[in-house]
Amino acid sequence: MSQQTDGMAHVTPERVSLDHRFSFRCHKGVSCFTQCCRGINIILTPYDILRLKNRLELSSEMFLSLYTEPQLLEKTDLPVVTLKMQEDEQRSCVFVREDGCLIYEDRPTCCRYYPLGVASLSHKEGADDKDFFFFIKEPHCKGFEEDTEWSVLEWRQDQGVDLRDEVNADWTDLLVRKRSFPANIKFTEKSKQLFFMGSYNIDKFRSFVFESSFLERYNIDPAEVEKIREDEVALLKFSLRWLKNTFFRGEGAPLKDASV
Ligand code: SF4
Ligand code: SF4
Repeated sequence: MSQQTDGMAHVTPERVSLDHRFSFRCHKGVSCFTQCCRGINIILTPYDILRLKNRLELSSEMFLSLYTEPQLLEKTDLPVVTLKMQEDEQRSCVFVREDGCLIYEDRPTCCRYYPLGVASLSHKEGADDKDFFFFIKEPHCKGFEEDTEWSVLEWRQDQGVDLRDEVNADWTDLLVRKRSFPANIKFTEKSKQLFFMGSYNIDKFRSFVFESSFLERYNIDPAEVEKIREDEVALLKFSLRWLKNTFFRGEGAPLKDASV
């Protein structure tokens, strides 16, 4: 079991580097098994949503409405979505069962990183313009008493977060950069809606690209148009690049906005 708790009363935000070593193992035999899947706040990344809506065979719109709650990410003033919790006493994750996570192969990025936290995906960390890792050491987590050793780098590879981080890179960069803006620089409501659609609602973004004047207004390589038509992950990466270009015009821009 792995995920990030964001009810972070006991978090020690000590920054750690990729070669930092630690002992940890989570398995069904630990006395705390699945405790970390309750009373938590899990921010979903764009790629998490893509995987989960496909796993559950839902449209992105339906997934967002059934399984997520909208929030504003502190210091960025940008909309994020968190996994909806059950209304039981412990606020259990909707996917937790006695024998573990029901959607384990598609579990969210924060769940994979745990017991590490990622500043860009935390409500409270990351006051500067860089992303970083830190340990979430919760008193109930017995995983630290196990003797399997990892470096942070090895843990990330083992948990399959490399691929996720690569797909989400432009989105994470956008969050981190926005976080370092002065508090008085705000995005408009329209910009926030665009950010929401481009980040989380891939089906709506697909319609936005292929069923509007989008392709006339932007000068996009035809080969790329074909790729994003066929490949949903490519469409998501395109969307996140497009968002970054829209919000930080001219920096690493993949598109030429022919209308400007
Ligand atoms: S060892 Fe830690 S991560 Fe594993 S189930 Fe227990 S609380 Fe969760
Ligand atoms: S998605 Fe899975 S791993 Fe993450 S909190 Fe829910 S049950 Fe636990």
